[in-house]
Amino acid sequence: MLMPNFSYVQPKTLADAIKHLSSDGARLHAGGTDLLGCLRDDIFPAKKLVSISQLKDLRGIRQMKDGGLRIGALSTLTEVAHNKMILERYPALAKGALEAASPQLRNQGTIGGNICQKPRCWYYRGEFHCLRKGGDRCYAYQGENQFHCILGSGGICYITHPSDTAPALVAYEATAQVAGPKGTRRVPLAKLHVLPAEDVKKETVLRPNEIVTEILLPPPVQGLRSSYRKVRARQSWDFALAGVALALKFNGDRVEKARVVLSGAAPIPWRSKEVEEAVTGKRLDADTIAGAAEAAVKNAEPLDQNGYKIPLFRGVLEEELAAIAGIY
Ligand SMILES: Cc1cc2nc3c(=O)[nH]c(=O)nc-3n(C[C@H](O)[C@H](O)[C@H](O)COP(=O)(O)OP(=O)(O)OC[C@H]3O[C@@H](n4cnc5c(N)ncnc54)[C@H](O)[C@@H]3O)c2cc1C
Ligand code: SF4
Repeated sequence: MLMPNFSYVQPKTLADAIKHLSSDGARLHAGGTDLLGCLRDDIFPAKKLVSISQLKDLRGIRQMKDGGLRIGALSTLTEVAHNKMILERYPALAKGALEAASPQLRNQGTIGGNICQKPRCWYYRGEFHCLRKGGDRCYAYQGENQFHCILGSGGICYITHPSDTAPALVAYEATAQVAGPKGTRRVPLAKLHVLPAEDVKKETVLRPNEIVTEILLPPPVQGLRSSYRKVRARQSWDFALAGVALALKFNGDRVEKARVVLSGAAPIPWRSKEVEEAVTGKRLDADTIAGAAEAAVKNAEPLDQNGYKIPLFRGVLEEELAAIAGIY
């Protein structure tokens, strides 16, 4: 398939970029690693691409006065994966960025694009006019669904959220700074993504003329231990079959507060309140870990071909909780 015809602009100011994005058929272009594939495969149309690459304020990673971190939305995944402050204070995010895609794609792809990328369902990416494209059915439900979700579909759409950085950002309680025609607003990462039951045609709460300008991470919490684990079919590059971002605040040997976010499980980065409840206030011993792993999948609703994800998630949770507890 050839690229469709569209105009291309590279505004120099945020206000200009927002103005361009407000015109009919405009699409935001960051690194283009996802967007250009979608256009080439005719998944959605575009009349105008608005590149944000000239917006210098959207670059850079720096510490804020409160001790937190500000990551410009144009920071590449490579920059996020290797930044010293992120590696030391937010290791789950560094790992998520490092495990996303291939080295070439990480050099080009941005963190803003990573959290806003389109789903990877092969029917959606193919020539199927499914519910998410405005059609009348989900082709995955009775089709090839081995990589689809086991939680949160609402019986409507069975995508898994493709981002490896978003689960860690939700676990760290990060916020997206968003600019639009009416000014700026802050959206907690935990509220950025949209479930099929809310709107099957949208992946995020952003309007077409809104831009994520930066991601804000709160200051590191004393006693916080965090990690990201991703299981994939191929070692080279692949999206998560199952994964988990953990951010557990310990008081002595007990978990005082927990944020547990699954990847490869649901249409959005899936906060597992069941696991959080199972570990909060507890020592992470073998019984607690086994109970938490079970809790992760207790509400799962597998399709015909993805039942293997249930033991997979149980195993990932068991291993990752044991590792964070220092059991092995
Ligand atoms: C072969 C392949 C394998 C991949 N594997 C993985 C993987 O394992 N894990 C993973 O996490 N990702 C994976 N990806 C996705 C990749 O990480 C993303 O394509 C990349 O991070 C997107 O960044 P970008 O800057 O290129 O976004 P673009 O392609 O420019 O944009 C992607 C989408 O986000 C929107 N967008 C971009 N920036 C902003 C912003 N600042 N504000 C609002 N909207 C915005 C665009 O309008 C577009 O809809 C893979 C991609 C490919 C092609
Ligand atoms: S899972 Fe969602 S994106 Fe995939 S075919 Fe079904 S409705 Fe479309």
